[in-house]
Amino acid sequence: MNTKNVKAFGTAAPDAPLKPLNIQRREVTANDVEIEILFCGICHSDLHTARNEWHGTVYPAVLGHEIVGKVTRVGNAVTKFHVGDLAGVGCMVDSCRVCESCLEGLEQYCEEGNIQTYNGADKHLGMQTFGGYSESIVVDEHFALRIPENLDLAATAPLLCAGITTYSPLKHWGIGPGKRVGVVGIGGLGHMGVKLAKAMGAHVVVFTTSAAKQADAQRLGAHEVVLSTDEQQMEQQRGRLDFILDTVSASHDINSYLSLLKRDGTLTLVGAPEHPLPVAAFSVIPARKSLAGSTIGGIAETQEMLDFCGEHNITSDIELIDIRGINEAYERLLKGDVHYRFVIDMASLKN
Ligand code: NAP
Ligand code: ZN
Ligand code: ZN
Repeated sequence: MNTKNVKAFGTAAPDAPLKPLNIQRREVTANDVEIEILFCGICHSDLHTARNEWHGTVYPAVLGHEIVGKVTRVGNAVTKFHVGDLAGVGCMVDSCRVCESCLEGLEQYCEEGNIQTYNGADKHLGMQTFGGYSESIVVDEHFALRIPENLDLAATAPLLCAGITTYSPLKHWGIGPGKRVGVVGIGGLGHMGVKLAKAMGAHVVVFTTSAAKQADAQRLGAHEVVLSTDEQQMEQQRGRLDFILDTVSASHDINSYLSLLKRDGTLTLVGAPEHPLPVAAFSVIPARKSLAGSTIGGIAETQEMLDFCGEHNITSDIELIDIRGINEAYERLLKGDVHYRFVIDMASLKN
C-alpha cells in the first residue's frame, strides 16, 4: 500500500518526553478522506496512554483524538465531504461495521473492539494507529464528522472527545429539565459536562477539589458548586442527586459520591483512573443505586452532539499552545491546572 511521510510529535517510551518524529499515512482509498489537521486537543487519555498507565501502549506513540481540520483529498467513493470542507475525527477510526452494536450506531461498543484513533490496530498498514499530533490523517469518511461552521474551530476540537464523552451518558440517562445532575472534576470532560447538562435543562451541581475553580464553575453554567474536600458542603448534597457524571482521572473515593444519589440514582464513570476504585456494597444496596460506565459515543450521536453545540453555541474553554509546549502542558494536566482544555495549534508543527 502506498504511504506518505508525515511530520508528527510522539513518544518512544513511558518516561520519555514527546518529540518530533515522522510517521506514515496511507494514500486515500475509495472511501477515505485526507484531513490537514489544524487543531488537536489534549485529552487526559493521551497522557494515560503516553505513560502506559493503562498498559498495552505500543511505541512510538502519537497521541491526539480531538482532531479538526480541512479536507485536502477524497477517495472516489466519498459522498459526505468535498475538498476544502471542515472535518473532525474523534477517538475511533474504524470498527467491524456488522456486529449488533455497530449496526445500532454504537461503534464505540463494537463487539470486536472499535479501532482507536491512536494505539489501535491499523487494518490498512498492519501497525499501531497514530493520532492527531500530526500534520494530517487519512480516515474512512464514516468516521469523519462534519463541523458546524459557526463555531470557533480551535475551541471545537475538544468536542470530538470531551464533548461526546459527556453528551452521550447525559442523553442515555435521560438528563433534562427537573433532573439534578452532579459533575465531578472540572477538567476537559467536566467543564463540557457542565455546559451540556445546563443546555439540556438540568440543575447542575459541580464538585471540585480546586477552590480556585469555584467561581469559574458558575461561569460555565453550574447552579451550585461544592468544594469536595469540605465535609459540610458534601453533607448538604446527601441524597439529592438523580445522576452523577464522574470525570476524575485519578484515585478518589466514589463511595462519598454514591451517598449523594437519590433512590434509584446512577453514578456513571467516564474518568478512567489507573488503579481500581473500591466500592462498598452498602454504598449502593440501601437505595437501589447504580454504578455505571460509559465510553465516548457512536458516530451518529457524535454528529448529533456537534450539531447541538452548533445550535447552542457551545465550545470548549481552551488554552491554545504551540506543539513545543506539549511536555509542559502534560505536567499541568497532571496537576489539574488547565482552563479547561489545551489545544495545539498544529501550524506550529510545520515550523
Ligand atoms: P483532566 O482535564 O485532567 O480533568 C480531570 C479532573 O479531575 C481535574 O481537572 C480535577 O478536577 C479532577 N482530579 C484530578 N485529580 C484528582 C484527584 N486526585 N482527586 C480528585 N479529583 C481529581 O482530564 P480529562 O481529559 O477531562 O479526562 C478525565 C478522565 O476521563 C481521564 O481519566 C480520561 O482518560 C478519561 N476519559 C474517558 C473517556 C471515556 O470514553 N470514558 C474519554 C475521554 C477521557 P478538579 O480540579 O475540579 O477537582
Ligand atoms: Zn479523550
Ligand atoms: Zn462492530
